[in-house]
Amino acid sequence: MCTNCEIKNVPLILAVSKPSKSLSARLLSMWKNVCLPRVIRRVYGAPLKRADLPGLFQAGYITRSGFKHSEEHALIYKGDILNLDPNQEVLIRINSACFTGDIFHDASCDCNEQMEISFQMLVANEGPGIVLYHFGHEGKAHGYVEKLEAYDGQMYPVKGDRRDFRSAISILRDLGITKVKVMTNNPEKVKILGEYGIQVTGIVPVVSKDPSLADFYDYKARTFNHALPTKERHSA
Ligand SMILES: [Zn+2]
Repeated sequence: MCTNCEIKNVPLILAVSKPSKSLSARLLSMWKNVCLPRVIRRVYGAPLKRADLPGLFQAGYITRSGFKHSEEHALIYKGDILNLDPNQEVLIRINSACFTGDIFHDASCDCNEQMEISFQMLVANEGPGIVLYHFGHEGKAHGYVEKLEAYDGQMYPVKGDRRDFRSAISILRDLGITKVKVMTNNPEKVKILGEYGIQVTGIVPVVSKDPSLADFYDYKARTFNHALPTKERHSA
């Protein structure tokens, strides 16, 4: 559907009546969609050369917002995701990049473990699947320096979540994905997918059994409302 055509009709409607709630919601939805980053380049099919992850491949995306701001993102995927059937359910994870966890294997978070669990879930899943590795999200998008500054010896308690998931939405749309099963503990990610019209048919928790993460899970559950055990529930 051409959103520009819909927008052309908007002033006429506004001129004759006060916008109803549903119209306001529709306008907001149209505006949000117009503002989504554009996919300007994509590369598919590079093998992921790991013997423990058969059938997984890499793809790269560049998205652009406005005229200048570009972002690169990576996909690890399984299946013929460039030729999905309409309404095909796809197993997905939007996985925020974490230098401290993924590159330096810092034990203060579970990011790397969550990513590895998600890769194994892709392999085990019969249908197509994607782990979208979202760059630019270090320390809830506060950045690496702020993350280190907040480090309290056990975790990185940055204040608030500044992550922007709109490029992820654009990439899912580029693939024609409308129905997803989401690997996440984060209700905010489920909400954002719904806001952009992507139907969430199921939620798959990604939880480590490592007892040393109890403090970190408690922090995430209390601060970001993640579906993770708090220390009280953990010990109960
Ligand atoms: Zn991390």
